[in-house]
Amino acid sequence: HVSAGLVGLPNVGKSTTFNVLCSQNVAAENFPFCTIDPSTARVKVPDERFDMLCNKYQPASKVPAWLTVVDIAGLVKGAHAGEGLGNAFLSHIRATDAIFHVVRVFEEKDTGVTHTEGACDPMRDLDIIRAELRFKDMDAINNKIPDMQKEIKRDPKNKKAAESLATLETTLEWLKAGKDVRFAVNHYKWGYKEIDVLNELMLLTAKPAMYLVNMSEPDFLRQKNKFLGKVKAYVDEHCPGEALIPYSAEFEAKLAAMEDEGAREALLVEHKVRSQLPKVVKTGYHLLRLIHFFTAGADEVKCWTIRDPCKAPGAAGTIHTDFERGFIMAEVMHFDDWKEAGSEAQCKATGKYMQKGKEYIVEDGDICYFKFNV
Ligand code: GDP
Repeated sequence: HVSAGLVGLPNVGKSTTFNVLCSQNVAAENFPFCTIDPSTARVKVPDERFDMLCNKYQPASKVPAWLTVVDIAGLVKGAHAGEGLGNAFLSHIRATDAIFHVVRVFEEKDTGVTHTEGACDPMRDLDIIRAELRFKDMDAINNKIPDMQKEIKRDPKNKKAAESLATLETTLEWLKAGKDVRFAVNHYKWGYKEIDVLNELMLLTAKPAMYLVNMSEPDFLRQKNKFLGKVKAYVDEHCPGEALIPYSAEFEAKLAAMEDEGAREALLVEHKVRSQLPKVVKTGYHLLRLIHFFTAGADEVKCWTIRDPCKAPGAAGTIHTDFERGFIMAEVMHFDDWKEAGSEAQCKATGKYMQKGKEYIVEDGDICYFKFNV
């Protein structure tokens, strides 16, 4: 399951956002959800291609993509060193695939909601949270380095260990310079070799992130907030390419609590705004470099989520670890080819039904069948 953790300082609107994402009243049909436990819920991710495949195959079972959202409490300044709930938050963040930063841009004077760090300053808040995550990553790397050194001492010819150590040391310096690991990959033009070393550590700042900028209701309704431009500039500078979505948790909660669908629509029309929640889920899911492949047949059409890039055996492994271990080949149709051909048989007839080996990098929308040894 793909999951995103909501992080942020206390009182920025994490729980409100989480509750609203799980709310029954949010146009349930178009926006199904399911609560797993008090801090974990899953939300369906809309996908047209999935709907088309279901129409064609009329399968007995339809399994869409879900995004699991986790409300992560306990991140405060100094958390890495045991402040507040200390490291309790850590295992929860480690287990998620992506991070949604909830960024508070509503002020105490307008809302009466206290800010634990004093005045409203979203850039400072982002600095605090991002630093906490980096500290944990430095710890993880500092713990790993001696293992590598020992291994090299034992076997000085172990080239792989030497390369791993170099990657770890470079990454540590990068973190010390105040930068998140995910941006090192592009900077150093790293490939699988280095990425594998880092993946093993499940580093927090390696996870893709996006920014949910939580405004007061009046600011959201007038689509204006004095911090918004600065937050955008901050993200562009420190986290280039990552998405930012302005919204108001309070307003979303108000919408969700409205029983009368007509009244809700009227309110939205009156203020010329939309609920931002579908956008949060969709953008969150797709901008996090997550892609889908499908398995499709009369029994089941199912949407599988992988992180781009992912080779065929890794994709097979999301279905079952045996598929990855015993991987022989993947039979693949690109979604657009399938759509154009109109059927699997027609794809086969026109050579668009391909056999791919273990180096194949699965594309978004591929329809796959895996062959494997047991
Ligand atoms: P968390 O500690 O980050 O989980 O924050 P909460 O969701 O518990 O919110 C803290 C307080 O801020 C609560 O009293 C919320 O009602 C309030 N709050 C959250 N979002 C908004 C918002 O968009 N506008 C206003 N005015 N208050 C908000």
